[in-house]
Amino acid sequence: MTQLLDTPQSRTKSPTLQMEKIPVKGYEQVFRVTDKKTGLQAIIAIHDTTLGPALGGTRVYPYTSFNEALEDVLRLSRGMTYKAALAEVGFGGGKSVIIADPKKEKTPALLMSFGAAVEKLTGTYICAEDAGFTLEDARIVRRATQYIVGLPQEKSSGDPSAFTAWGTFRGLQSIAKKLFGSDSLEGRTLAVQGLGSVGAYLLDHLFWAGAELVISDVDTAKAEKFSAKYRAKVVAPDQILKTECDILIPCAMGGIVNDQTLPQFRCRAIAGCANNQLLRDSHATALRGKGILYAPDFIINAGGLLNVAAELEEQGYHPALPRYKSHHLYDTLLAIYEIAEKNGESTHAAALALAEYRLKYLIGKRVIPPVFHHSPD
Ligand code: NAD
Repeated sequence: MTQLLDTPQSRTKSPTLQMEKIPVKGYEQVFRVTDKKTGLQAIIAIHDTTLGPALGGTRVYPYTSFNEALEDVLRLSRGMTYKAALAEVGFGGGKSVIIADPKKEKTPALLMSFGAAVEKLTGTYICAEDAGFTLEDARIVRRATQYIVGLPQEKSSGDPSAFTAWGTFRGLQSIAKKLFGSDSLEGRTLAVQGLGSVGAYLLDHLFWAGAELVISDVDTAKAEKFSAKYRAKVVAPDQILKTECDILIPCAMGGIVNDQTLPQFRCRAIAGCANNQLLRDSHATALRGKGILYAPDFIINAGGLLNVAAELEEQGYHPALPRYKSHHLYDTLLAIYEIAEKNGESTHAAALALAEYRLKYLIGKRVIPPVFHHSPD
């Protein structure tokens, strides 16, 4: 296994590492990152650092083309800017993608050359866990850069999924409050798409809240396991979005609200943790036209961001802070529903406008630089 010594010199020393700037309108900095020696092909997108350093996960995925990867990282990094602005964490929006099959091509050498690229940005961008990038990968990347969060260490925050799930649960309660006048989810039919890290925690909250659960996952063994545990009805992956329910809860992939799916929805609301649920911003208006209440994804799923941001506090990580803040995503969402209703616009448009307002007037801008408490293993 390739080892890099943890000195400032060695952290940035990687002779074959190339970082080429790609000009993209509306983005502060976008880099194409390659390393011939390790086979690394990655993109780091820094969308906006008005309120603080760009923070956002690293996705490892076998994109079929560079442009597909670029489109994904641009959308995700922009979403992080809005998520961070509304969560008031004093961070900006960034994201990175590594073009590789996480099961076959993710070697320690490749991860460390990615870490060296992050280190070269001297803290303008801070990376974290995302799809295809595990806590073990974070440990390896930490050997090459300090600018990483979510490590399984003391004073570090570890897996954010439980916090994302709690924020999502509170978001579902906000939907119930708006639609039915009470936070209670008891007896409501909830359809959950995706039973992964977040979905699994969320199911537990929903079961104990007394909801009637309909679930689906492409991994059918997982769906059956949860069906037995929570007395949930399992439907096939191509049926879950069409399921008649009170709330549809997307917890798998993005783009599930699109021209094909819109006519099929038979729910009163859509609220889940998946990133980029709307294929295009205009799909939010279409949902409103159909009378479907939508919880903007970049608010309801901010629990994970709140958790990793907490470890960069001066005093180091304590779960009480992200737990408290995730709990109150409920209030932000209720406020957004009210603003949207008053302005006659979609909840997505209302959320974007509030985020833009905070960016314009520097509301929640970071004053104290983030403190990195972790050390390489
Ligand atoms: P995960 O990879 O652990 O789980 C995703 C699950 O969805 C898997 O079980 C997978 O088999 C299933 N799936 C994939 N395609 C499906 C389909 N078509 N139908 C049904 N199931 C399908 O991911 P996760 O960490 O649970 O995150 C879920 C979503 O939430 C992602 O969009 C992620 O970007 C977003 N998110 C996660 C966090 C976090 O803290 N983990 C934070 C913010 C946002």
